[in-house]
This record gives sequence, C-alpha cells and structure tokens, in this order.
Amino acid sequence: MLDKLEVLYVNNKALRDANDNLRKENDDLRKEVDNLNDRLSEFECGDIENQDFIASPRSNTFHTSSCHWMEPVWDPIRFASHDDAVEQGYKPCKTCRA
Ligand SMILES: [Zn+2]
Repeated sequence: MLDKLEVLYVNNKALRDANDNLRKENDDLRKEVDNLNDRLSEFECGDIENQDFIASPRSNTFHTSSCHWMEPVWDPIRFASHDDAVEQGYKPCKTCRA
C-alpha cells in the first residue's frame, strides 16, 4: 500500500514538474508571438510609407498614386517620400493626405 502511495507521489511530482515546464514554454511562446506581432505591425506601417507619391508635371500638388484627384498623365513626377516631394516645392493634396 505504501509502495503504491509512493509511486503516486513520485508521478504527481513528475507531472507537476512537467506542468511547470509547459507553463514556461507557453510564456516563451507568448513572448515570441508578441515579438512577431510587433514586427508585423512595423512591416505594415512600412508598407504604407512605401506608397507612391506622384504629381502631374502641370501642377504643384502631389498625391498618393490611388488619389482620384491626380489627373491621369503619362509621365507623372515620382517622389521617394512625402518629405522628398515637399523638399522639391510640392504641396500635399488635402484629399488623399499624401
Ligand atoms: Zn490627392
């Protein structure tokens, strides 16, 4: 009878240790998921910044490439960024908030 209790006690301790390990592993995985989510949101923000900024050669206003106020032209002036366009003397469109 005592032997049986001893076995149960040892098994219980082993299970408790295993449970602790799993809990630590779970914490680690949760941190990893948080990290990945952070990196994903950076990536998505980066994507938005990578939008095209364009202007018509006949205008001094620049737009994002999806703005419907941007008149269709064959040879739009392209800018690397919002700041790039402003530095070259162009004004951001108020509709698309380029
Ligand atoms: Zn616009």
